[in-house]
Amino acid sequence: MKISDIIIDYYYKNKRELVWRNTKNPYSIWVSEIMLQQTRVNQAKDFFNRFISCFPDVQSLAEADENEVLKLWQGLGYYSRARNMHLSAKFIVNELKGSFPNKYEDLLKLKGVGEYTAAAIASISFNEQIAAVDGNVYRVLSRLFDEHSPIDTAKGKKRFKELAAYMIEEQAPGDFNQAMMEFGATVCIPAKPNCNQCPVSTQCLALSKGTVLQLPSKKKALKVKNRYLHYLIIIDNNNTFLQKRKNNDIWKGLYEFPLIETQKQINTQKLISGDDFRKLFKGKVHIEHVSEEIKHRLSHQMLHIRFYKIVAENFFEKTAYTSISIDEIEKYPVPKVIDKYIREGVLKN
Ligand code: SF4
Repeated sequence: MKISDIIIDYYYKNKRELVWRNTKNPYSIWVSEIMLQQTRVNQAKDFFNRFISCFPDVQSLAEADENEVLKLWQGLGYYSRARNMHLSAKFIVNELKGSFPNKYEDLLKLKGVGEYTAAAIASISFNEQIAAVDGNVYRVLSRLFDEHSPIDTAKGKKRFKELAAYMIEEQAPGDFNQAMMEFGATVCIPAKPNCNQCPVSTQCLALSKGTVLQLPSKKKALKVKNRYLHYLIIIDNNNTFLQKRKNNDIWKGLYEFPLIETQKQINTQKLISGDDFRKLFKGKVHIEHVSEEIKHRLSHQMLHIRFYKIVAENFFEKTAYTSISIDEIEKYPVPKVIDKYIREGVLKN
């Protein structure tokens, strides 16, 4: 039996019941694939259900307000995914008369849809014979074929696409792609693959050569940048202040407290004597509380975050920020780390 037949057969018998597996609707597949790009299946389930019940089709997503879309996405991270989906929904409704693209090449024209997502939608929804190669599939292929080409190089990517294209031949493409992803997510997992229970272990070249844990290969080590964020929670009677992040940076479109970012970690004394702080406040400032440093890891960044609760008496830059009632803050889309801090009740204490 061919390896691909065994993996598909294994998928039919063992696949997890996931709500987006009960449909071929391209809109639903699109939403699920975008969510799953950076999010684990278990976490994505609830978000998917909420998203689909609020925006059941491309039309309703196109008509939504961006804040509403981001609020539903809050906690999933990588917010550019939500903004791009929103833009693409508008493009489909306004430019394509609401008709969802049904070919790989046309799907690639949607903002935020790369080769993997386009292949997943084209194969699952439209039966197009094209392999979807994501991180799970790279891992499975590299081990099955003992292929050491680095997956983060153009040459390596091309090699893995060829291997996947070779395997997908004559298969039901949507099932093949889902079977490979599921196999990588549940059997051929990164650190402790279940080789003892693997249905293709006798054909796995990496297992026979003892190279399983060296694969997949990468050329570059991931560089992580440290950033130091100081959030000023300024209390003005029952109000506080927020700003919307606008630059092309993390969390674009989300709201945050007034922010001072520094190049390295500094203590409170240094913060309040610095120019950025002095631009916001006149005279003496009463800081009620300083949080511990919170470390928040993003894929390429380590954020070191501190919150400072301050009484607004001398805050004179009020007009540069949105003043909101503390009771209303939960209506605003904010980064997960800020949401978590707010939920600890610090604003009301
Ligand atoms: Fe992956 Fe192990 Fe199966 Fe090889 S034998 S495909 S490494 S789970």
